[in-house]
Amino acid sequence: MTTLTQAVFWLVQASALLVFFVQASAGLVALWAVSHFLRAIGLTLAFHRYFAHRAFKMNRVARFVWAFIGTAAMQKGPLWWAGHHVNHHKYADRDGDPHSPMVSGVYYAHIGWFLNDTKHDRLEANNPVVRDFGKFPEIRFLNTYFFVPPLLLAIAMFAIGGFPWLVWGFCLPTVTLAHATFAINTVNHLFGWRRFDTIDESRNNPFTAFFAVGEGWHNNHHRYQRAARNGFYWWEFDPTYYVIRAMQLVGLAWDVQPVPERIYAEARAVKARRLQQHTTSVLQDSGTIGLELAEDAD
Ligand SMILES: [Zn+2]
Ligand SMILES: [Zn+2]
Repeated sequence: MTTLTQAVFWLVQASALLVFFVQASAGLVALWAVSHFLRAIGLTLAFHRYFAHRAFKMNRVARFVWAFIGTAAMQKGPLWWAGHHVNHHKYADRDGDPHSPMVSGVYYAHIGWFLNDTKHDRLEANNPVVRDFGKFPEIRFLNTYFFVPPLLLAIAMFAIGGFPWLVWGFCLPTVTLAHATFAINTVNHLFGWRRFDTIDESRNNPFTAFFAVGEGWHNNHHRYQRAARNGFYWWEFDPTYYVIRAMQLVGLAWDVQPVPERIYAEARAVKARRLQQHTTSVLQDSGTIGLELAEDAD
C-alpha cells in the first residue's frame, strides 16, 4: 500500500470520532446499521463465501452487485481480499499466514498486515481466486479501482444528508466494519470456544458473529470451509447464510454447499469425548479428596 492509501486509511479511522460532533438520532443510528450490515454482507457473501470458498453459485449480475457492495467496505478489492484469505486457510496460524496473532502479534494481525505486509502481500498467478475470477473484467475493475465504490458512497451520503449522513452513513460504519472484519482474524483466533480440534487456533465467538454477520463461527468455518453457512446450527446466528438461502429460494443462488453429515458426526464425537474426559477427571479429583479426608480422620 502506498503512503497515500495508508494516510487515507488512518484519516477515515479518525473520522469516526466526528460522531461526537453530530447530534445522534434514531434515524442516524439506523443509517449506521444499514451501512455497516449491508456492506458486511457484501464482504462475507461475495468476498469470503463466494470468491474465496465457492460455497454457492450466482449469476454474473448478482455477483457484481454484491462484489460492488463489498468493495464499498473499503477493504481493498475482491481478488486481493479473497486471494489473501485463501492463504490464511492454507497456512492458518503457521508461517505464511498473512494475519495470525500467533505468528506476528495482535496489532499486525489486526491492522498491520492490511496496511503494509512486505512478507505476504503477494498473489501468485496460480492463486485460485485470481486464476478463476481475474478473467472477468468487471471483477478486475473493482479490484484495481477499489477506492471507487467507497468514494461514491461517501459522496452519495454527503449529497443526500450533508455532514450528519457522511459521518453516520460512511465514516463511523466504515470503521466499525473494518474492526468487525479484522476481529475475525484476531479475536476469533484468541477468544471463544472450539467445537472442533482443528490444527489452527480458530474459535467460535457469538459477539464477533453478530457484528460480522455470521463470520464469528470461525472454528466451524476452519473445520469445513466450503459450507455456505458458518453457523452450523439454527441457534448460531448467521445472517449471511439467510441471505444466500433467500437468494436460493428466488433462483439467484444455486449449488449451495451444505455442511456434510460427517462433520456433524465429528462435532458429536468430539463433544462426547470431552464429556467423558471431564467426567473421568472429576472422579479422579473426588478420589484424591476422599483420600485426604481419610488421612485427616486418622
Ligand atoms: Zn481464521
Ligand atoms: Zn474463510
